[in-house]
Amino acid sequence: MAITEVVVIGGGAAGFFSAIHAAQAAHTQVILLEAGRQPLAKVRISGGGRCNVTHHCFEPSQLVQNYPRGGKALRGAFSRFQPLDVVRWFNGEGVKLKTESDGRMFPITDDSETIVEALMFAAKKAGVFLRNNVLVQKIERFGSSKFEVILKNGEPLVCDRLLLATGSSPSGYAIARSLGHELESPVPSLFTFNIKDPKLNELAGVSVNPAQVKLLIPSLSTDKKKSARNLEQSGALLITHWGVSGPAVLKLSAWAARELHDCKYQAKLAINWLPNLKAEEVKQMLLNAKTEQPKKFISNYCPVDVSLRLWEYLLDKAEVELEKRWADISHKSIQQIVNVLTASEYAIAGKGAFKEEFVTCGGIRLQDVNFQTMESKICQGLFFAGEILDIDGVTGGFNFQNAWTTAWIAAQGIIA
Ligand SMILES: Cc1cc2nc3c(=O)[nH]c(=O)nc-3n(C[C@H](O)[C@H](O)[C@H](O)COP(=O)(O)OP(=O)(O)OC[C@H]3O[C@@H](n4cnc5c(N)ncnc54)[C@H](O)[C@@H]3O)c2cc1C
Repeated sequence: MAITEVVVIGGGAAGFFSAIHAAQAAHTQVILLEAGRQPLAKVRISGGGRCNVTHHCFEPSQLVQNYPRGGKALRGAFSRFQPLDVVRWFNGEGVKLKTESDGRMFPITDDSETIVEALMFAAKKAGVFLRNNVLVQKIERFGSSKFEVILKNGEPLVCDRLLLATGSSPSGYAIARSLGHELESPVPSLFTFNIKDPKLNELAGVSVNPAQVKLLIPSLSTDKKKSARNLEQSGALLITHWGVSGPAVLKLSAWAARELHDCKYQAKLAINWLPNLKAEEVKQMLLNAKTEQPKKFISNYCPVDVSLRLWEYLLDKAEVELEKRWADISHKSIQQIVNVLTASEYAIAGKGAFKEEFVTCGGIRLQDVNFQTMESKICQGLFFAGEILDIDGVTGGFNFQNAWTTAWIAAQGIIA
């Protein structure tokens, strides 16, 4: 069998995983080109230096629900290579993964270097030829079916199959465009919300679980409003010095990444601090407090499940005097407190950084890729894997899982 020359562009999670699996075939020679001085830079910094490798969710139909973009396309892909396969693969490389209470999976060493070393070692073992410090500048068709890969220093490399695994790098997008691909415009996903409210900011460190957060964007077109069904999320919410963060907010930032970008991160956020109760039930609890604890100061006695510090802040927001006793609280005030507890509004004044994970929404249009092989439908011999695709997940290991799965499928397509 003739040797198939493969060039993988991008030494990140997707590029490595694909290069390793493609190089294991007897008839392939794989060169992995990485622009940086060191490969796997994002793996190193991922998950706060611990690398959240994947998520403990082994049911493809459930797994896909964690992808604001790309879930549908990944459904079949996950039936071929899913988190359980990742766990087994790393196990085979001597890396044990553990699951945290929220489902996130990390190496038992709690050190992303363990993952970097395993990938580096597996690549070496498989015979991948890794070249760092090599920026690919352009690609041209060579003959009828080959590619010429031109490096920044002008050096040309000829190959039969090409994998673009350049993540969200503009140079990777430019290469894809030059080969006929269109992009969904890239915008950030997974971020926190800035809220300029000094009294709220003073509560930094307070967390509420669960809270429900709902995005209100008046400028959304009616069409978009109809499709914006995921603009409401529940989960833990963390108050920070700059606004709000936590899983509920991060999920919302991912599902609404495009809408928030379009409104320049200026929108209203409605927070329900007690999503497990109906507004009527909250009202009844307050009325009970009024009859059962009439002598207590309202600021000292909170009949619902929020911390006293948050309660005081919310009373202030409801414009209720903190020095009053429960007996003196009017029905109008009770209704105002109910409104603030279940549907108070906060002005988002921008996006903040979530240091543990970050991803780009947008990229290669999925309808132009054959998900059986990850080969381009536009340019034969060209394959894609990882974040360069218009796929992104919520926080929790889903973004690496996209990289592992699409990379593994691309490798099968490349060696076929
Ligand atoms: C701070 C941070 C923490 C994260 N933590 C997690 C986490 O814990 N769990 C999780 O699931 N996800 C996490 N993510 C997201 C995850 O890292 C990415 O989704 C994933 O790394 C994508 O892998 P990739 O191989 O597609 O792209 P990348 O990792 O971005 O790799 C692409 C590579 O291509 C190289 N490259 C680009 N252009 C060229 C070119 N022209 N020539 C040569 N090389 C090129 C780049 O230098 C880069 O090394 C995190 C992201 C960040 C930023």
